[in-house]
Amino acid sequence: MNNINGLVGHDGVLKHIRSAVSAGRVSHAYLIEGAEGSGKKTLANRFAMTLLCKTPQDGEPCGRCDSCRVFLSGNHPDMHYIRPGEKGTLPVQMIRDELVQDIEVLPYYEGRKVYIVENAHMMKEQAQNVLLKTIEEPPAYGVVLLLAESVQNFLPTVRSRCVLLRLLPLSERLVAQTLVSQYQVAPEIAASCSAFCGGSVGQALKMAQSEEFVQLRGRWMQRFAGMVREDMVGMLGWSMALEEDKAHIQEVLRMMMIWFRDLLLVMETGSTGQCICQDMAEALSNSVRMYDIAEVYRKIDVLNDAQRKLSHNVNYALWCDWLLIQLSKHSTQR
Ligand SMILES: [Zn+2]
Repeated sequence: MNNINGLVGHDGVLKHIRSAVSAGRVSHAYLIEGAEGSGKKTLANRFAMTLLCKTPQDGEPCGRCDSCRVFLSGNHPDMHYIRPGEKGTLPVQMIRDELVQDIEVLPYYEGRKVYIVENAHMMKEQAQNVLLKTIEEPPAYGVVLLLAESVQNFLPTVRSRCVLLRLLPLSERLVAQTLVSQYQVAPEIAASCSAFCGGSVGQALKMAQSEEFVQLRGRWMQRFAGMVREDMVGMLGWSMALEEDKAHIQEVLRMMMIWFRDLLLVMETGSTGQCICQDMAEALSNSVRMYDIAEVYRKIDVLNDAQRKLSHNVNYALWCDWLLIQLSKHSTQR
């Protein structure tokens, strides 16, 4: 079962799933984030099969027990799929009937009951609120896997109840792998550059080989590592640096986004194995202890907001001050 098509390269996520299953630490709700074609469904199905298997081995489905055989036939009574209707929406009624109420009925076999919600980012606020009650107090046997192209559309309350598993788009991963294997680029630089270059090896390589980018990244990574200790005055001290790197502000914002996403991954998986900033693993682990998860989600929202504001021709100096105040808020609120 080791080479299911489409999962090549998702080693970090698979390792996390395997160890959670082996250690009996399976959560009741997972948010599997990835672009179209990144392997979300394949991953969710494999995870579900493992969860339902009667004799999983090292966190993998055995492929031989009754449950696995029925699963492979596509008719497992404890496997439920919730798919958007023709209009591409997931109406409240659908979530209520097919998930919230259905999950209360005991499983057919003695094991778990698994729900895969496809295109879960299409759930409107009301549907998410209905789902929230279930993932807050799920029956012991229930596991919900939400598949989404982005976590942005989710309410913070829903996001914070889910373990986030993030699948890099194939192109991003392939670009990074190519930079490492063919051009001897350091893995953390390769991952950062490929995140910027929309699938272009050439562009990513140009960036990775640019001394300017490597230095820019180094400078800002050190700042991000210290951010958790900065109060508002300290954060406003960054405005000079933002002014100096004005020509590269998009890269700085993207790097900051990657930083906070890495923090989320550490919070939700308990390890730095899946992080992009592998060279900052220690700083990430240290920062994690000082944030709470809702705070990190809020910062990611701030960065998205900052991106939008920047594209609307704002006064740069004012924008910098606004951003730094937003980013410093958590230390002043405590
Ligand atoms: Zn089995």
